[in-house]
Amino acid sequence: MSNDNKNARPEKLSAVKGMNDILPAESARWEWLEAHVRALMALYAYRNIRTPIVEHTQLFVRGIGEVTDIVEKEMYSFEDRLNGEHLTLRPENTASVVRAVIENNLLYDGGKRLWYAGPQFRHERPQRGRYRQFHQVGAETLGFAGPDVDAELILLAAALFRRLGIADWRLEINSLGQPAERAEHRRRLIAYLEGHVDALDEEARRRLHGNPLRILDTKNPALQAIVEGAPRLIDFLGAESLAHFDGLKAILDANGIAWTVNPRLVRGLDYYNLTVFEFVTDRLGAQGTICAGGRYDYLVGQIGGRPAPAVGWALGVERVLELVQESGTTTAAPVPDAYAIVPDAQALPVVLRTLQKLRDAGVRVQMHAGGADGRGSFKTQFKKADQSGAQYALVFGSDELARGEVTVKALRDGSGAQEARQLADVAGWAATLQSPAR
Ligand code: ATP
Ligand code: MG
Repeated sequence: MSNDNKNARPEKLSAVKGMNDILPAESARWEWLEAHVRALMALYAYRNIRTPIVEHTQLFVRGIGEVTDIVEKEMYSFEDRLNGEHLTLRPENTASVVRAVIENNLLYDGGKRLWYAGPQFRHERPQRGRYRQFHQVGAETLGFAGPDVDAELILLAAALFRRLGIADWRLEINSLGQPAERAEHRRRLIAYLEGHVDALDEEARRRLHGNPLRILDTKNPALQAIVEGAPRLIDFLGAESLAHFDGLKAILDANGIAWTVNPRLVRGLDYYNLTVFEFVTDRLGAQGTICAGGRYDYLVGQIGGRPAPAVGWALGVERVLELVQESGTTTAAPVPDAYAIVPDAQALPVVLRTLQKLRDAGVRVQMHAGGADGRGSFKTQFKKADQSGAQYALVFGSDELARGEVTVKALRDGSGAQEARQLADVAGWAATLQSPAR
């Protein structure tokens, strides 16, 4: 080996493009959001479900639809080297939830309300609000056909935004009707688009006969005029579909939730029918949809279950957290109540036992940990105690320990007050260390 190489370090590794670390400075905000989600889901009687991150590719091809952005170009699919299975990192969670519900026969005793939270994977161009690993919180109800649960889900999302201090959203709704209504609209839409075929872009031409509805959802501004003039699905809805839509609107109105009908809202996934909706904000640039969902009454059947109606939504956690941050909402990271100063390594067995007792009593304690070159002076350790944010320093000096005591010193009230406490009676004074704001 040459001298040059002797000190060479291995090349640094980095995270995969579009996939982010969530570091401690940020994770407090994530935990805060998750705590709100968990509490709110309990209030609405939704139960948590956790499905695998990897599924058979076929689940998404069948569940999401072949002529969709996700299945056409966004999935992380691979072949299992050991057994040749075709697998995919989940790009969304609804298909997995439906698979799990069918596979475990969850609907045997009636409808279910479920929620999930976790990472999803899509190979998109990374940009603000658009990542390759991103996170969703989602709510799904299965087995309920009426507009009451559509409304409940929307009220739930609105309540979550209220709790998170996000006010700057609007709700867009639409109805995609039922398959027969869509079929008639589709015939008319294709005829209309064929009349403008020269003006369509390549993607639209490709979708013209496969999934023409998605052309209405185009992000290409050059197609806006054509899209504006296209036959509107809502004009093809029959009485039952309209009654469902009206039922939803009436409940939203009664609850003071403002909505607008966006007839071009068709959603990116194939499986929707009747109600679709999006919560949109203008404060995030191009990636303004923070929560999106709709009814998918045919998906359970399509994935091989006994047909059951269903409706749900998914919320983009990164986008919502960006709004939270922008609104200036502060979410405090947990800070220890006390910092243990341990100048002498011999004291460690007693110290760790005492700290365990304090933690059992609910006190957050950080221990000063030593390095190879010793434990650091009193002064260094006090400096670390200060940096930790703790209210108290626990000084385990050899004099104190000899008396069976620890010195508790106030770090933040300006008093510098200190008191000796008995090691034998931790339970008797532990509560005095806990900060009231928990
Ligand atoms: P878009 O039109 O922005 O691509 P979509 O219709 O593909 O969205 P959905 O599949 O409905 O998105 O996912 C629900 C929500 O998840 C979106 O409204 C958004 O908030 C979030 N989301 C979707 N894709 C991403 C991504 N790549 N990065 C971050 N968040 C995302
Ligand atoms: Mg997308």
